[in-house]
Amino acid sequence: MSGFPYSEQFDINRRLPEAGTDKESVLSMLETMSSTENQTWETGQCSGTMYCGDHDHYDFLNQAFSYFSYVNTLQRDMCPSATKFEAEIIAMTLDLMGADHVQDSTPVGLVTSGGSGSIAHAVLAYRESNGAKVARPNIIKPETAHPAFSKAGHLFGVDMKVAPVDPVTTRVDLDWVKANIDANTVALIGSASNYGYGTVDPIQELGAIALEHGIGLHVDGCLGGFILPFGRELGYDIPAFDFSVPGVTTISADTHKYGYALKGTSVLCFSSQALRNSQYFYLTDWSGGKYCSPGMDGSRSGGLLAATWAAMVHLGRSGYRRYAEAIFATSAKMQEAVRSHPSLRIMGSPSFLFSFTSDEYDIYHVNDFLRTRGWRMNGQQYPNAIHMAVTRPQTQPGVAERWTADLAEAVGYASTHKDQEPKSGAIYGGVAGGSNDEIDSIIKVFMADMMDQQSSIPAP
Ligand SMILES: *Cc1c(COP(=O)(O)O)cnc(C)c1O
Repeated sequence: MSGFPYSEQFDINRRLPEAGTDKESVLSMLETMSSTENQTWETGQCSGTMYCGDHDHYDFLNQAFSYFSYVNTLQRDMCPSATKFEAEIIAMTLDLMGADHVQDSTPVGLVTSGGSGSIAHAVLAYRESNGAKVARPNIIKPETAHPAFSKAGHLFGVDMKVAPVDPVTTRVDLDWVKANIDANTVALIGSASNYGYGTVDPIQELGAIALEHGIGLHVDGCLGGFILPFGRELGYDIPAFDFSVPGVTTISADTHKYGYALKGTSVLCFSSQALRNSQYFYLTDWSGGKYCSPGMDGSRSGGLLAATWAAMVHLGRSGYRRYAEAIFATSAKMQEAVRSHPSLRIMGSPSFLFSFTSDEYDIYHVNDFLRTRGWRMNGQQYPNAIHMAVTRPQTQPGVAERWTADLAEAVGYASTHKDQEPKSGAIYGGVAGGSNDEIDSIIKVFMADMMDQQSSIPAP
């Protein structure tokens, strides 16, 4: 029996065991697995993923979660606290997103289960609010926008028209956007920042185009929503991307990323109540009772709302600003190391998350070497590039210095190995000459197999 996680240490549960295991033993197994896995990121060498990385903070959130972990927020008469948490999470996020600037409508929000959830609800709202007018709506998204938009389009029958981005700035091609709006276009999308390059689309210009055509503009602030506003306050050159920009109608901001809450929450902000309410769901004549829900989820844990609220109220603007300051400074140091190597090229003008490539060799050679030093970067393709989303674990003393030293060696390794195939490039990098239908099918089979393996026990 090989390969299955922890099979050397613990029994594999192939069936629901007849006899239960005592609590101490169960908790001890969990503790073992958790502390083993924490070592992969506690070094500060893992891109993104662990946004706070502070065990005191996690303990605090876990305690907040525990008071309401078992509460179902659908039953509001039993938990008025959920309304306090949810309403205040939304109000605080709206405030951060410049909702004070909205005139002629009431800005509102929705707490969802994550970034993909916020994006899905935005796509649904644009479809529903235009449903009567358009049979098959479409939305224009930059190529760099998150796959969640395409997934939502797939689920809800909304076509995504994919706009190219400028290869140097990595920002969306505005002329393409303008030329491709048609009678069925219900919204545009811009990212602040996008996941791949950490760059921000021209939101002002997209807003002007959206207004001119009377359509929506969703700003994907899933990643940047809780950090870019503080970068702006700290004086970094980040253009406005929030409701202060005319034309912006929805913004997604993930509390479970730089909001430093537990995994499982995000906020979708709407400039108007009518837009949000267009996707409320009702079944008034069900025999089981009158049913309504604000979004796609049914039962939700009150614990997640409590923990998200706790994170925001505890940190306050000053806490978020302090964390952002350290993250921006660390990212600048790490980018400086990249810029010191003429063979490396940073993609566009990023801030807290930066991506780089090389025009002299396959950047996956650099990744191959960095892996041997314990770095875990995110891989990109078309063109091959790797990125580092700087989070709090990188702000620990010594991490940026380790990066600078390891990167210098990695560049040396890449130049001497440039005629070989990089190991990690085969998995994460693009296919030479571009993809085609055949390669696409092969990759899908490989990915399906990977997902299957993640949810099954191998045969004994
Ligand atoms: C993470 C991310 C998303 C999707 O969020 P999930 O929480 O993973 O569902 C969307 N957009 C951007 C820019 C992101 O970084």
